[in-house]
Amino acid sequence: MINFFKTLNPFSKSKKEEEKLLRPTFCYSEYQINDWKKSVIESAHDILRYSANNYWPMKFHACGIFGKKCTFYDVCNTTPDNRAYKIESFFKEKGNFSLMGNEDETS
Ligand code: SF4
Repeated sequence: MINFFKTLNPFSKSKKEEEKLLRPTFCYSEYQINDWKKSVIESAHDILRYSANNYWPMKFHACGIFGKKCTFYDVCNTTPDNRAYKIESFFKEKGNFSLMGNEDETS
């Protein structure tokens, strides 16, 4: 059983507190969980291989997958010799990132 929290517009002033948070549950079969585990392991192997080869292949199926262009769309859709320039122009490198909000901004 998968049990998780999902927030629904948590800063809305028009919603009641109980309308801002969902706690749905899903039940998956054993074979679905095993397939998911195998898929995650294969994805991890892919990431290790990409890192070892220092080559991260483009995933064209994902360029607009969330209803908007990927953040890197303009970088991927320029000539290879222009990519470093676009990255430097469009992105600012941050320091160490922490999910807990203790970012070390060095730039
Ligand atoms: S635009 Fe984004 S999703 Fe598409 S290939 Fe480039 S990095 Fe991947």
